[in-house]
Amino acid sequence: MLSKKLQKAFNDQINHEFSSSYLYLSMAAYALSQNLPGFAHWLKMQTAEEKGHAMKLYNYVAERGGRIELQALEQPPVEFSSPIALFEEVLKHERKITAFINKLYEAALDERDYASQVVLHWFIQEQVEEEAAASEILETLKMAGEKGHALIMMDRQLARRGQN
Ligand code: MG
Repeated sequence: MLSKKLQKAFNDQINHEFSSSYLYLSMAAYALSQNLPGFAHWLKMQTAEEKGHAMKLYNYVAERGGRIELQALEQPPVEFSSPIALFEEVLKHERKITAFINKLYEAALDERDYASQVVLHWFIQEQVEEEAAASEILETLKMAGEKGHALIMMDRQLARRGQN
């Protein structure tokens, strides 16, 4: 059985993951409005991945006899000033999620809940990958610039996510 404190913390994290999914879906819509289908594809895949994270936690809470309580989602931003600004937001957002995961892990340590610690190891590792992926795309965009040919090449590269 999950402690009440951990149950609340897991429910909050489920909300953060669904909020991430919703944010990336809004970012994908922005990319479509800018005629960047590759960016939109990458962001839609990210949306699905975040929903997967939420469901992993959801199933875990249920498995531990906890009560899942879904919370309201905030409206995500609609407009971004550029593809670089968008990926700056992605990186900033993933760093925020990493901080939430770390806090959740600390709560599991405080409660001496070993099963939760094991489940959260996966999320800690996943956040390393999330930050690295966002950072790599952002750095490439900054190097190549976001005009004309460079942006088209980047769009084609992002369109290939999930193909290899
Ligand atoms: Mg996530």
